[in-house]
Amino acid sequence: MTRTIRVAVPGPFTEPLDYLVPSRLPLPRRGVRVRVPLGRRELVGMVTAAPSGSNLAADRLRPITAVLDDEPLLDEETSSLIEWAAHYYHHPVGDAYLTALPARLRQGQAAAPAIATVWTITAEGRETAPESLARQAPRQAVLLEALQAEEHLSPARLAGFDGDPRGALQRLVERGLASLTPVPDYGLIIGRGEESNLALNDEQIAAARAIQPGEGHEVVLVDGVTGSGKTEIYLDAIARSLAQGLQTLVIVPEIGLTPQLVRRFQRRLPGRIAVLHSGLGDGERLNAWLAARTGEADVVIGTRSAAFVPLRRPGLIVIDEEHDASLKQQEGFRYSARDLAVLRAHRLDIPVVLGSATPSLESLENVRRGRYTRYRLCQRAGDARPPVIQLLDMRGQPTRDGLSQPLIDQIHRHLEGGGQALLFLNRRGFSPTLICHECGWLAECDRCDARYTYHRGRGRLHCHHCDRERSLPHHCPSCGSVDLRPLGLGTERIETALQAAFPETPPVRIDRDSTRRRGSFERQMEAARRGDTRLLLGTQMLAKGHHLPAVTLVAIIDADQGLFGADFRAPERLAQLVVQVAGRAGRAERSGEVAIQTHHPEHPLLQMLIHGGYPAFAEAALAEREAAGLPPARAMALLRAEAPSREAPQAFLKAALAGAPRDPRVERLGPYPAPMERRAGRYRAQVMLQSDLRAPLQHLLTQWLPRLGRLPEARRVRWSIDVDPAET
Ligand code: ADP
Ligand code: ZN
Ligand code: ZN
Repeated sequence: MTRTIRVAVPGPFTEPLDYLVPSRLPLPRRGVRVRVPLGRRELVGMVTAAPSGSNLAADRLRPITAVLDDEPLLDEETSSLIEWAAHYYHHPVGDAYLTALPARLRQGQAAAPAIATVWTITAEGRETAPESLARQAPRQAVLLEALQAEEHLSPARLAGFDGDPRGALQRLVERGLASLTPVPDYGLIIGRGEESNLALNDEQIAAARAIQPGEGHEVVLVDGVTGSGKTEIYLDAIARSLAQGLQTLVIVPEIGLTPQLVRRFQRRLPGRIAVLHSGLGDGERLNAWLAARTGEADVVIGTRSAAFVPLRRPGLIVIDEEHDASLKQQEGFRYSARDLAVLRAHRLDIPVVLGSATPSLESLENVRRGRYTRYRLCQRAGDARPPVIQLLDMRGQPTRDGLSQPLIDQIHRHLEGGGQALLFLNRRGFSPTLICHECGWLAECDRCDARYTYHRGRGRLHCHHCDRERSLPHHCPSCGSVDLRPLGLGTERIETALQAAFPETPPVRIDRDSTRRRGSFERQMEAARRGDTRLLLGTQMLAKGHHLPAVTLVAIIDADQGLFGADFRAPERLAQLVVQVAGRAGRAERSGEVAIQTHHPEHPLLQMLIHGGYPAFAEAALAEREAAGLPPARAMALLRAEAPSREAPQAFLKAALAGAPRDPRVERLGPYPAPMERRAGRYRAQVMLQSDLRAPLQHLLTQWLPRLGRLPEARRVRWSIDVDPAET
């Protein structure tokens, strides 16, 4: 019998490849990693199918060179989820597998956690009364008592004792009462499971009741403003999942995974918590991943890629901030962690909770179709009152670097009243560009259809699209004038204006420039939370997931940039941002005010938000999408291409369309230039495909995409497919 297996191998292969298993090696099962030759290289691949007849004659197959795991690393559920995602997003299956694995496993290292040496109680130690040591060796007595209660003492646990207890522990080892043993160390956070001293309100109870770990699949959308108590609902449901011995997977946006959130989980949950995010070292990531897989971790909190983490005894999935665009990967393997998590819960037959103050239109549409159940939290938890929103009409107003006089007065009032003000502008740098006051020349990036952002602090021009930087010109390259002026507003400029207007109250700016150093974002937010910082300004980093109980005024400096965006999702994103930022105000006992500066106070979107809130906006926006035939009413995919020349992407997309299978149910649009046609020196174009139903669109893509690589025009472009694109 020939021994052949199928292996998902990194590279452009849609399907796994066939390999031979030499007789000296054991026959690996599905989910086991192997080393395989490919061309002249050797790669780590994942076995996807047990032995079967290969299409290729056995004498043409190459043999694998090593089997890396004794046990499958991925169980059937995780493997098939990854394969499903590779097919749905039309991404090479080997790359999809790689995305799902921590770096060390991708590189072929052992699937073993770190080892720590701990002090363990011996049989004799268990029998010995600590009091017998108390007289001559009080420290040893204390440690023996702790060992009897806890079984092990890890090096980290030793910090809980006075002084350095290692000498005394060594004495216990010499007496035979304790021993030093190596144990796996998954780096888990040990939850304390403290009783909550608050009782859920009726709305919270209704939502919590709908989430029943162990009772089958259910999608629960918890729709409640910031501070309405969504996290309390998650904690309640997770605790019940834990009580049944089941694991919970919690997915949050990168920026939502704060130490504050982790500490809250640790305080409240009586279980072991693994945290998975991009800031971890490779070793820490591997440990957390293995803890999920082995079931050592009861709760796994992670960002996007945690959607693929294998779980030993899954009971519940929670997705916080489900509307957040960062849950969709924007390059390479363009999967949606939210959509996959919902699918996963369905296949596992477990409940999934989606939480947001501003649910995505996709989720609201699923509610309308009866697939998800929505629970609204209308009252703010505790006694917090909802903020009052007002529009500040900027037309004809004198402004000082973007701050209108009414806004300055308002900030004064709040500062004098002991409040805290938070100003929001989604643009970093000093100004979005420089302009020549003589001739109108603008500082444009020569590699992008975009302008340089002026960073005054660094004294440089920086293109935020291609990352190119250059020094500040002394004079206009077009007319020679030295009168170059900043045009437009960035956070640095607002900071300067605030320093001038409020010399007594130094503002703190929070954006990607001011928080480059590791941990500085957290430190600044912590200071803001304690109320040390009275005047805060920043980009959307400020908008998400942070409790700032002392904030009484939130101001949106410029709503207009979001009102007229090119993307069809721009209004949705603006509405979400306004509501999320507004959610920072008046969270504790103080009621808050929200001020929105705009030149378009009559704009229907703003009016809708002010008078009907997000639900009214969402309803209108859904109707608009329906009328325009856009998602979520219809399914969408984008075929993108880019190249250094303008013609190549167009030629490729035209050739691709010419050979596309015909299906009247799938509408095709394009090729047309991308909204920013040139970026980083490459021209970009795209074709949009839309269909009322997913199935015909998927069917067409499956037939079509494998042919594209063989087009002669494909050699001159980089192309990719984006199913359910977050940005068009
Ligand atoms: P969200 O996740 O919706 O932003 P949280 O769950 O963080 O809201 O709750 C906001 C604040 O209100 C927290 O300080 C929380 O402890 C408190 N809180 C939540 N639910 C209740 C309740 N039922 N009674 C009193 N306080 C509550
Ligand atoms: Zn000029
Ligand atoms: Zn550029």
